[in-house]
Amino acid sequence: MPQPTLSFNSGRVDSRPGIFYNASENSPRISMLKTPLVSALLLALSAGGAIAAPPAFPAEEGPAIKIMTTVFPLAEITRAVAGARAEVGLILPPGAEVHTWQPRFGDVRKLSSLDAFIYIGSGLEPWAGDLLRGAGRPALRVLEIGRTLPLAPLAASDPDDHAHGREGADPHVWLDPVLDQMIADRIADFLSALEPSGAAGFRDRADAFKSVLGGLDRDFQRSLSNCRSRTFIYCGHSAFAYLARRYGLEQVAVFGASPDAAPTPRELASVIDKAKSAGVRTVFFEPGIGEKMARMIAAGAGADTRPLSAGHNLTPAETAAGRTFIDIMRTNLENLKHGLSCR
Ligand SMILES: [Zn+2]
Repeated sequence: MPQPTLSFNSGRVDSRPGIFYNASENSPRISMLKTPLVSALLLALSAGGAIAAPPAFPAEEGPAIKIMTTVFPLAEITRAVAGARAEVGLILPPGAEVHTWQPRFGDVRKLSSLDAFIYIGSGLEPWAGDLLRGAGRPALRVLEIGRTLPLAPLAASDPDDHAHGREGADPHVWLDPVLDQMIADRIADFLSALEPSGAAGFRDRADAFKSVLGGLDRDFQRSLSNCRSRTFIYCGHSAFAYLARRYGLEQVAVFGASPDAAPTPRELASVIDKAKSAGVRTVFFEPGIGEKMARMIAAGAGADTRPLSAGHNLTPAETAAGRTFIDIMRTNLENLKHGLSCR
């Protein structure tokens, strides 16, 4: 069992004594001081016990609420809507895969100081239920975005996929900029219920971010309206169905609905045939998952390769570079324009 971090940092002091929360980190870390209260808390946690109600303490200036999210785009939209009213964390460490990641004791403990937890659901985070149960905090407010949106079923070619979409619906809603605007609305409503005094600000910031997302949507529409091809071969898991549907494209995903659902040799041969007969210019790949396979298919089909990021999480390098969700989507658009020969 990982030991609690016993370090001091410059983070803002939480309303409970002895717990620091570093808001500057993408993946928040809670550091603990050796106080009798914390010792008792750790003892209770390590014994699997529920956390007692925190002692009353005067509220401090700064963010009023603490929120944890499960995928990078959700963290970005929540941060945009919450502004300075909330500290928003991403529970995945940089580079972790949302479907294969397993929460550790320290992750369960992160929930002990939270006000809210926002996740996609629909099987995207198969560990979320255990994490919430493990935290044992009935007062924690939870928003499952997937339950508030018109989800599409998984593609018919992915009937047996596990992990992602095991509940039958495709969870990759954030890759459609129109659905992202709905997500911003849902988060503004949720935060307003949580912190009514901030409602006007949440609404204003949601509207501002929706206009950025609206601009992204218009650029996708315009840039992908006149293309030689509308089918893209993707050496990755089938994350782009909402995007493909929105802009009239066809996704041929070599993996299933989850990156650990690797194709059989027969499926791979059929993709190479498809790439050849369609004369594809570019074979796309999921970074960290499908580049080698894309090179192989591209070599057989006389094509090049380009990445398409589904943006579930950032790599450590992307995190260090301060890459945003909008950056990721704009890079995806550039690569699609190239690969589909759009004018
Ligand atoms: Zn996915």
